[in-house]
Amino acid sequence: MSHPSSWNEEEFAHFAPHPRFGQRPRRTGLNPQTNFFSGVYLHWHSPEDCRVSNTAITAKTDKQRQPTVAVTHYYDVKRLCRDCKRPFLFFAVEQAYWYEELQLPLEADCVRCTDCRSNARELSSIRTEYESLVTQEALSLEESVTLVQHGLRLVEEQIFGKKVLQRLAAQLNQIAEPLQQTSATTYESLRTQMQCLQLADYPNP
Ligand SMILES: [Zn+2]
Repeated sequence: MSHPSSWNEEEFAHFAPHPRFGQRPRRTGLNPQTNFFSGVYLHWHSPEDCRVSNTAITAKTDKQRQPTVAVTHYYDVKRLCRDCKRPFLFFAVEQAYWYEELQLPLEADCVRCTDCRSNARELSSIRTEYESLVTQEALSLEESVTLVQHGLRLVEEQIFGKKVLQRLAAQLNQIAEPLQQTSATTYESLRTQMQCLQLADYPNP
């Protein structure tokens, strides 16, 4: 090896993989340390213990969105996912994309692995669709099924609680007959899922 590194590949074997960058750090050999006199400013959310050495890239400070103090280099940094608790890397190249292309403020930090981020996005779109269906007066059978499916998923994820579950049970009762005729298996699977959730204990109302 041309230069020794302070990390080995094995350390990252259990990291949640990024669909594009994988789970191993991207070695660049660049390893600047904060030095105000030579103008090196690292991100406040990238303290030394979470930086992976020799992975820094140079930032385009003029592209960052009105920073109080521009960040001059990004490192691959170790994070613990807020949702699934797995460690993952917030890659230097992702940070460049966030702060320079997407123009996110430097305050924005990555707290979820990519799996949980896409799960969060999926849930938010499910919730939007659910909430629009709930306000509609007359629903088709298909829309009612979607409403119950989305509602159950949101209860499962503990976004909604018992009250919504009761409403969904009533909704499923209402469409029981026509649904059994068109798709008995859909009805059965919704009813089973509903019963499992009714037996569970939910903290939120
Ligand atoms: Zn996660």
